[in-house]
Amino acid sequence: MFESLTQRLSGTMERLRGRGRLSESNISEAVREVRIALLEADVALPVVQGLIQRIKVRAVGQEVMRSLTPGQVLVRIVRDELALVMGSQATDLNLNVPAPAVILMAGLQGAGKTTTVAKLAKHLKERRKKKVMVVSADVYRPAAIEQLQTLAGQVGALFFPSDASQKPEAIVKAAIIEARKTFADVLIVDTAGRTSIDDAMMAEIKALHAAVNPVETLFVVDSMTGQDAAVTAKHFGEALPLTGVVLTKTDGDARGGAALSVRYITGKPIKFVGVGEKPDALDVFHPDRAAGRILDMGDVLSLVEQVEQQVDHDKAKKLADKVAKGKKFDLNDMRDQLEQMQNMGGLHGLMDKLPGVGALPEAVKQQVTGKEVPRMIAVINSMTKKERRNPDLLNGSRRARVARGSGLTPADVNKVLKQYQQMEKMMGKLGRGGMKGMMRGLSG
Ligand code: GDP
Repeated sequence: MFESLTQRLSGTMERLRGRGRLSESNISEAVREVRIALLEADVALPVVQGLIQRIKVRAVGQEVMRSLTPGQVLVRIVRDELALVMGSQATDLNLNVPAPAVILMAGLQGAGKTTTVAKLAKHLKERRKKKVMVVSADVYRPAAIEQLQTLAGQVGALFFPSDASQKPEAIVKAAIIEARKTFADVLIVDTAGRTSIDDAMMAEIKALHAAVNPVETLFVVDSMTGQDAAVTAKHFGEALPLTGVVLTKTDGDARGGAALSVRYITGKPIKFVGVGEKPDALDVFHPDRAAGRILDMGDVLSLVEQVEQQVDHDKAKKLADKVAKGKKFDLNDMRDQLEQMQNMGGLHGLMDKLPGVGALPEAVKQQVTGKEVPRMIAVINSMTKKERRNPDLLNGSRRARVARGSGLTPADVNKVLKQYQQMEKMMGKLGRGGMKGMMRGLSG
């Protein structure tokens, strides 16, 4: 999300940051560029106007003029205001009610509701240690019920069966009773969507809401629809007391207009963003970090969190111990490292969060992160156990065999071995010297 906005703004911000003194015309030039960038990102007009107004007031104020680093102060003001418009702080789900805490999901068809139910179940299970049950009240599409059942199996959530002959309210009431019986902490309710807002759907979900009294009512909306997402959310918000919004498909949305508009237009916080199709592709939305990212300061905190979650701590510790003891780093270790990178969604997911990287053209990013990692793993997998432990065995004919086995060329094999040698050398240095602490930090 935000790539195009970031690209648009990074030049402006870079120019400002270095300046020792700002004139009124510098400031209004910068503010104008921010305005255009926001409009191009499909941010709703009232949001842009409000933002620009506040930035202007603060920018010509004492805060900037008196500062020793006016450029930086102005960049900070823009960042603060962007964060503020998105809600400043992350807003957690409220689960402080007698179990089961019911979460009702609403949204249009295709927005990503069912997928999000599964992602949320996984999130609550893994991060908040909750026992989660899911149920579908979509009595119009038996396929939707089946889809939820499959996904529930994948993420290890309890599934309460329902079928098209039942009434949505009856389904959910029965699910609540079952959730109590099985001591589920949370019950997530998927509902029927329509292709557009219609009265019958609104009436149905309103009745359902009244009948089950959920503690959270989340509106799921496709971020690719830009500011329309905020408008649809507003309509739903007028019919239902929404407690938050989930923006899906942000992985395909370079502009970020929805993220910047939803809070202002609906008054409801964005609680989560969907960042891919898989069940773990859900992030808690942190407006402050997102704002930092727009101005390309890099979302370093999210990065650390992501690495923390994905790193296999046992393996990392084993490797750290091995290196510390001066043992040889072999191709098995390299494969472990590569697999961990792959688990993190390749480097692509991480790269966008690094300062400065946001502005790189997409083609360059692809080059670095593309298909390299799986190919390297394929090469290593084609070696024998002995070769992996002792790479020196890999003479010409063995290399040719490995190339054939992995369906790649000898040049690919040589490349992997060369990278291995570099890593091995680095690990050797780590083992002997100063950076041990860092490895421990990673594995602790
Ligand atoms: P529903 O009709 O609202 O229940 O929508 P679904 O959950 O069936 O999702 C519709 C499509 O959007 C599916 O192909 C999902 O895989 C896809 N989808 C959902 N969330 C995301 C996301 O965050 N990123 C991407 N890339 N695709 C998503």
